[in-house]
Amino acid sequence: MLLTITTTHQPATDLGYLLHKHPEKCQSFSLSFGKAHVFYPESSEVKCTVALLLDINPIELVRGKSASDNREGTLTHYVNDRPYSASSFMSVAISNVFRTALSARCKDRPELVEQAIPITVKLPVLPCRGGESFLRQLFEPLGYQVEGETLPLDETFPEWQNSSYISATLHNTVRLCDLLSHLYVLIPVLDDDKHYWVGEEEIAKLLRHGEGWLNNHPVKEQITSRYLKRRRKLAKIALAQLAEEDNPDIEETDAIQAEEEAAIEKPISLNQQRLETVTETLKEYQVKRVIDLGCGEGKLLCYLLKNKSLEQITGVDVAYRTLEIAKSRLKLDNLPFHQQDKIQLIQGSLIYRDKRFQGYDAATVIEVIEHLDLNRLAALERVLFEFAQPKLVIVTTPNIEYNVRFASLASGKLRHRDHRFEWTRKEFQDWGNQVAERFNYEVVFKGIGDVDDEVGTPTQMAIFTV
Ligand code: SAH
Repeated sequence: MLLTITTTHQPATDLGYLLHKHPEKCQSFSLSFGKAHVFYPESSEVKCTVALLLDINPIELVRGKSASDNREGTLTHYVNDRPYSASSFMSVAISNVFRTALSARCKDRPELVEQAIPITVKLPVLPCRGGESFLRQLFEPLGYQVEGETLPLDETFPEWQNSSYISATLHNTVRLCDLLSHLYVLIPVLDDDKHYWVGEEEIAKLLRHGEGWLNNHPVKEQITSRYLKRRRKLAKIALAQLAEEDNPDIEETDAIQAEEEAAIEKPISLNQQRLETVTETLKEYQVKRVIDLGCGEGKLLCYLLKNKSLEQITGVDVAYRTLEIAKSRLKLDNLPFHQQDKIQLIQGSLIYRDKRFQGYDAATVIEVIEHLDLNRLAALERVLFEFAQPKLVIVTTPNIEYNVRFASLASGKLRHRDHRFEWTRKEFQDWGNQVAERFNYEVVFKGIGDVDDEVGTPTQMAIFTV
């Protein structure tokens, strides 16, 4: 199984920097299903080609499978197209062998990563369920010029006609990281299969590698469905998250809006008080495993990481870019090992049931509920209190009554342009009491920030316990 990538960018040997693979070396990597070899059949200043050759071991593929997995009969397990055609094995190899390039990093030449370069990709045996027209539907909207030659089933028996395999050549001027993302997602989509079980983690992979292009792709529904092995429930979640994540109204202005909100609240350093109160409350309840839902840029996570009694800290947010900021704020790549094991960031939506939210002592939902439309709040309630069921839940939200005390906030305005609502103390407490009753929790309410006799505190907090 072979993939070649050729560039005529000058100097073409820059391809070696981008891929972190030296053009004069031939390197081999062991993968669970066989070996991946990387080498350069040609490399000069004017033209450079890298080849990724997979040597799949059919015996390894069968190992560990039970007889009940073997629905297609023993022989098909050993004799099949997998060693010879580009499939999800190729995607796994791309993500392993070209990991740094795929994630748009290049330590030595960072400016190269951002450069669109002329590229020709060849996939000599590409399984295409849907034929050449589907291949075009997938790649042409992304700017590729597509050449596809349908391969005969057997050259010596022309009467057997064509196979469903295509020898594909794709040309484009594109950033290498984008090209690798396109191939990573679209090769298994064309094959319409995956060699491994597809669960909820697969949604995050799709969103990560589809970032910036999938949401605007004309056949995004088909891509999503096939990528997730036609599991309808997963596809529905992925499409909903895609729409939310790529909502430019929210994304582009988010940072500015957050700054505006911080500026309004700054005179009393409300954020600081909020983080301290939440951290203290977690300590008080002797929490060991906490999940911060809607973690944003990770302000609370930074605080929590300093707390030695916590054993597991997870941050969840729907916005991939926000998580990237959290990752660099937390310096995740440079943390000592014991801390790296302790913390993780996951992309997910709080309004869809998700197994990854289970198994925590506590969940924090800090300044998040007011970002959800009221009709979606009920979904979050079930996800959190019915399915995730931590023993302790801390929810904070603005107290709208206090807004009159913010000199810089125009009368009648909410604190953040993305807030869908802000509640009075009574509204928040009515909501909290009703949730506690419905899901068998106890609830107490506290204020955060300076107390004003008339309008209370700027932030309100509900502490739910079982
Ligand atoms: N808790 C953080 C961020 C609050 S801003 C802090 O206190 O600083 C609200 C965050 O909720 C944003 O990062 C937004 O991306 C996230 N969010 C909004 N709707 C969401 C949803 N449905 N699922 C997951 N996260 C969501």
